[in-house]
Amino acid sequence: MRSRLFTLVCALSLLACMASVVLWVRSYRRCDLLVQQRGAEDRFAVTSEFGIFVFEFEDRQEHAIQPGWVYFDSRLPRRWGRPGSILGFAVFRGFNRHYLLLPPTALRGVSVPHWFVTGISGVLPALWLARHRREKLARSRSAGGLCAACGYDLRASEGRCPECGVEPLPRVGAIREAHHAGG
Ligand SMILES: [Zn+2]
Repeated sequence: MRSRLFTLVCALSLLACMASVVLWVRSYRRCDLLVQQRGAEDRFAVTSEFGIFVFEFEDRQEHAIQPGWVYFDSRLPRRWGRPGSILGFAVFRGFNRHYLLLPPTALRGVSVPHWFVTGISGVLPALWLARHRREKLARSRSAGGLCAACGYDLRASEGRCPECGVEPLPRVGAIREAHHAGG
């Protein structure tokens, strides 16, 4: 049960890792933006661009839209790697300028580089793979009459491995025989 849960969590982590790699590669050519829009303000936005994920929370807009003309000179697309960011990590406060006739709204955000998300989400799948390979090796060793832990030939010995002291894995046949003998 616990092992199955671990496998499930590892599989989800692997999916996150692969999604992060895809977004990472895409981020140098395209800007992926997911926005939770609530009226004039975007309350929450996740951006993937230039090797960085940006999570932004915007304050509520208290003003009504005023009709009229307005001039903007902002550069598009946005370029991250803002001053104060270290290796793509940043915690920031700022203002979101609206392309509507509204005053700017305050926002808070964090940026996290793709390499970090890819690395973190890759840890569990790597552990799972290492465990899987270890178990496979142990099974094939004990099937061949070798110590599951160190590979020492146990065909001439009884009980614990004389080399490393590990108790041998019970073979499937041995378990069945014991079961028959017991009941
Ligand atoms: Zn051994």
